[in-house]
Amino acid sequence: MSRVNLVGFLPAELEDLAVELGASRYRGRQLATWIYRKRVFELEAMSDLPKDFRGRLGERAVVEVPEPERVTPSQDGSRKLVYRFADGNRISSVVMPDDDRITLCVSTQVGCGFECRFCLTGVMGLERNLTAGEIVGQVLGANRLLAPDQHVTHIVFMGMGEPLANYAALVTSLRILTDAKLGLGYSPRRITVSTVGLVPGIEKLGREALKVNLAISLHAASDEVRGPLMPVNRSFDLKTLLAALRRYPLAHRQRIFFEYVLLEDVNDSPDDAARLVRLLRGIRAKVNLIPFNDWEGAEFRRPPLPRILAFQSILLDAGLTTTVRWSKGEDIGAACGQLREPVPA
Ligand code: SF4
Repeated sequence: MSRVNLVGFLPAELEDLAVELGASRYRGRQLATWIYRKRVFELEAMSDLPKDFRGRLGERAVVEVPEPERVTPSQDGSRKLVYRFADGNRISSVVMPDDDRITLCVSTQVGCGFECRFCLTGVMGLERNLTAGEIVGQVLGANRLLAPDQHVTHIVFMGMGEPLANYAALVTSLRILTDAKLGLGYSPRRITVSTVGLVPGIEKLGREALKVNLAISLHAASDEVRGPLMPVNRSFDLKTLLAALRRYPLAHRQRIFFEYVLLEDVNDSPDDAARLVRLLRGIRAKVNLIPFNDWEGAEFRRPPLPRILAFQSILLDAGLTTTVRWSKGEDIGAACGQLREPVPA
């Protein structure tokens, strides 16, 4: 019988397991503390757990944190970590240090089924969802790779896949990451979930009261432009999406992030910028402009710098907080929309 991996179990599930094995719930809480807080992954090293409990546990379960198959450093200091799972599938996470922050971009699916036309990941189609353990494992795996006095400070769900299309695993992983007592203890304000705009998922997430940040891959300010770029717009057009976002519960001083990849002569004109200003009126918004990252075979180009800056100025003049995000990891194929891994030969 194959043993189950405890990484990805909610603390309450670890308590249930302890009871199932004839121990008290307290033993489950100790187990959670070892795995998520002390980051100890060998059952034998969990010294305050009774030996017989550890023995019974060892027959049923393991604590496995994935080892990256490959780590590719980038000139800008970021590192792409490629993981290979037992089924042969590969995914990537990207560690991006910036002053005293270390941001980790995690994947939620192998591939992606949403086929955004500017995205390399979209080209490969959806293979499968990741489990909560495989998502949390990326954070534990990245932390293990960093120096002992360092750890991932911010987490963005912007890697391979659409997080809200893998809803149950997403929410379980968020609960483990944000549990201050028995989980990894990340402040929800340091976690951002990015979506193409799956309205039912956005509404459900709003009701979970997790208080994590929400980012919308918007990329266009009209259905005419967005529809052909992002097929999801046929299911949830901008009017429906923006209505859901207006209802989304935001904490004090929290804003919704809007990601907008700038594609030359597609969505980068002054008129597009003015339309974006009108679209976001009344929403506490922050816009991240992402100049397109070229990849071989792409049908789009990055706009010239003056056009990027002119677009930004229009948003700034209208009072919209706007940054231009020069993607990290461009030289290692780790920038947004480039997290595709070659299918193993
Ligand atoms: S941009 Fe995101 S949702 Fe769209 S195809 Fe790429 S990974 Fe999927």
